[in-house]
Amino acid sequence: TRVERVDLRELVAGTLAMLRTAGRIKHVKVSLSAPESPLWLEVSRTRVEQVLLNLVSNAADAVEPVRDRTAEVCVRLHEDMTAGLVCCRVEDTGVGIPEDKLSNIFEPWFTTKSPGRGTGLGLPVVRTIIQECGGDLLVESQEGKGSAFTFRLRAAGSPA
Ligand code: ADP
Ligand code: MG
Repeated sequence: TRVERVDLRELVAGTLAMLRTAGRIKHVKVSLSAPESPLWLEVSRTRVEQVLLNLVSNAADAVEPVRDRTAEVCVRLHEDMTAGLVCCRVEDTGVGIPEDKLSNIFEPWFTTKSPGRGTGLGLPVVRTIIQECGGDLLVESQEGKGSAFTFRLRAAGSPA
């Protein structure tokens, strides 16, 4: 959990490669959209990797039941220079989250997946890590349309 200088583009690409090798995103189209220049963060690489593994796995699970071939996952990265923030948005065109469930998804053990497929611990861990890194996390979702989870972290070298 040592804090180091990390290019978020490289970290995301590595995490997607890891998920592919593990067969976790075998039947899902996943794309990455990132700027030309590095997105430097000062973070624990393994912690941010854990966030991405959870968000992309959830997005893949949400897309799987959608038989429509257009269903996909997209990770979008960009830098908000004025605010000094690096943003990562994990979007899916999956099943979405019903409005009355949105307040429950961060509760430990809350899952809509069958036993053995979900523990309900992914999002609580994601939220804790982002908070510990001094960032924030936003959820947007529409049932039947898809979801987007966005986290923002302070860019390396920008004042707190
Ligand atoms: P788990 O994936 O083990 O169920 P999580 O904490 O990662 O636990 O997620 C909790 C619940 O939030 C999921 O079971 C699912 O109902 C919902 N959820 C999370 N991400 C998404 C998503 N991208 N699309 C639809 N539902 C989601
Ligand atoms: Mg999960």
